Amino acid sequence: MAPETQAGAAGAALPLPPMKWDAWGDPALAKDLSADIKGLLAAALGVTGDATPGPAADEVLLHPSRITADDLKALAAAVGETNVSAADADRLPRAGGKSTPDLLRRRSRAPQDAPDAVVLPGDEQEIAAVLALCAERRIAVVPFGGGTSVVGGLDPERGDLTAVISLDLRRLDRLHELDETSGEAVLGAGLTGPAAEALLAERGYELGHYPQSFRYATLGGFAATRSSGQDSAGHGRFDEMVRGLRVVTPVGVLDLGRAPASAAGPDLRELFLGSEGTLGVITAVRLRVHPLPAVKAHEAWSLPDFATGSAALRAVEQAGTGATVIRLSDEAETMVNLAMTEQIGGAPAVTGCLAVTVFEGTAEQVATRHRLTRDTLLAAGATSLGEAPARAWEHGRFNAPYLRDSLLSAGALCETLETAASWSRLPSLRTAVTEALTTALPGALVLCHISHVYPTGASLYFTVVAALGEDPLTRWAAAKRAAGDAIVAAGATITHHHAVGADHRPWMTDEIGELGVRILRAVKAELDPAGILNPGKLIP
Ligand SMILES: Cc1cc2nc3c(=O)[nH]c(=O)nc-3n(C[C@H](O)[C@H](O)[C@H](O)COP(=O)(O)OP(=O)(O)OC[C@H]3O[C@@H](n4cnc5c(N)ncnc54)[C@H](O)[C@@H]3O)c2cc1C
Repeated sequence: MAPETQAGAAGAALPLPPMKWDAWGDPALAKDLSADIKGLLAAALGVTGDATPGPAADEVLLHPSRITADDLKALAAAVGETNVSAADADRLPRAGGKSTPDLLRRRSRAPQDAPDAVVLPGDEQEIAAVLALCAERRIAVVPFGGGTSVVGGLDPERGDLTAVISLDLRRLDRLHELDETSGEAVLGAGLTGPAAEALLAERGYELGHYPQSFRYATLGGFAATRSSGQDSAGHGRFDEMVRGLRVVTPVGVLDLGRAPASAAGPDLRELFLGSEGTLGVITAVRLRVHPLPAVKAHEAWSLPDFATGSAALRAVEQAGTGATVIRLSDEAETMVNLAMTEQIGGAPAVTGCLAVTVFEGTAEQVATRHRLTRDTLLAAGATSLGEAPARAWEHGRFNAPYLRDSLLSAGALCETLETAASWSRLPSLRTAVTEALTTALPGALVLCHISHVYPTGASLYFTVVAALGEDPLTRWAAAKRAAGDAIVAAGATITHHHAVGADHRPWMTDEIGELGVRILRAVKAELDPAGILNPGKLIP
């Protein structure tokens, strides 16, 4: 066997993903933790001293590529020579997603797994050609959008195939069509959130999908994972915005969704929303868009405790008062926000529980939505904190992931998980998950917020901070297993918006039953008979 090779950034033949391979976002925006926070970590979690730094890019060891020269030649014939590479510097940044276990593995000095080659197709014909030759040569294909998966959705698994390629979709980056009469836009799957919004804003429109990973994730990734943005109360989840999809499968192309509503049998778009690269490659999405909002209003609130806050959010959502953003931190998260405010530029916190509301629309719409929400919240026990904390939250909302990198470097493990359930089950769900996490990781700090609301229920988003300690990967895996089991036992979903990937696959049978799994397997066998598409993800 060939020796492991070194993956220096120099030597990349392809444009690199914008994020560093072992950290979030733009390295220039990362900040060291303040002395105050380090003191707090030492006092609360026993975190002392910085973690051993990981290797520099040119010190990372990768397992050697298994792609053959003949495979590379065939791939180059399909997409052009300048769009294929087996260089380690191109493989390393596509080696996985951005969960905390991903980042810990990237910091390892042991040899790491990576796709055997990277391919950048430019259009549907090229994608179809790549899938055909990969099926013939038994090469696995992992579609790669923004690389922000937190569930192992991009793990370079080969299954029983000979090699695996990363199919980086960044070249599918066009606004194909804007139908202003209907309020629909057709956009390329490889566009990142900011690139899509910039193209729409030039014409006075907005999509309004703002997940925390907005700056780097792509439209194809949002569709393939059923993503949910922080403005979901007003604009809906990403899957609710999708009017149509184009998908290239190994056995043909699908163009789905031809009218605003249809009774023509089961909705096949639903098969591909959340399909996580296992059934086909999404190349373009037709999305509901709206004119850029004329007016925005912000207001933050203090609630005496999480139960009162949760009831207040339920009242607002069930009354349909029309908030664009509404979220509630529990007592612990509210307290930690206060300590972190300076670090991430987030909302200054308060006693009790902080809630944030934002309203968008025309001046009249905003005035009405704001008034109705305000009346409902006040009646439910909220106290107004004015607009400043809500504006501060909005300003800092994409910065929190940098904090995770700084915490890791300082010797603290920080990871998140999420779920959803009906309102009546929410209190017991929160207790069960918190207990599972603190039992598995004694002394850990568990923070929680309500991140998305529906008339019948809500999603809970947990953040866990603990000392990194010995073997953090194994300790986190045990905690994640305990939390997943608690979620399933509580009758909640294993994921509200992070998707399934490799990490949640063990709970898919609990989620949809044996028959449900057989249906997914049957669809996969029909669309991907050689089993090349993203092995080891989603379908047990
Ligand atoms: C710090 C952080 C914050 C996050 N915040 C949120 C949040 O607020 N809300 C939320 O919903 N998620 C969030 N996520 C998760 C992640 O950003 C989403 O799952 C996102 O939708 C992934 O998009 P991507 O383009 O990065 O896809 P990738 O990570 O590249 O891929 C994700 C999965 O989709 C498949 N895929 C990607 N593109 C295509 C395509 N065109 N066709 C077929 N399959 C494809 C991949 O094979 C993979 O299985 C967060 C992640 C991080 C790291």
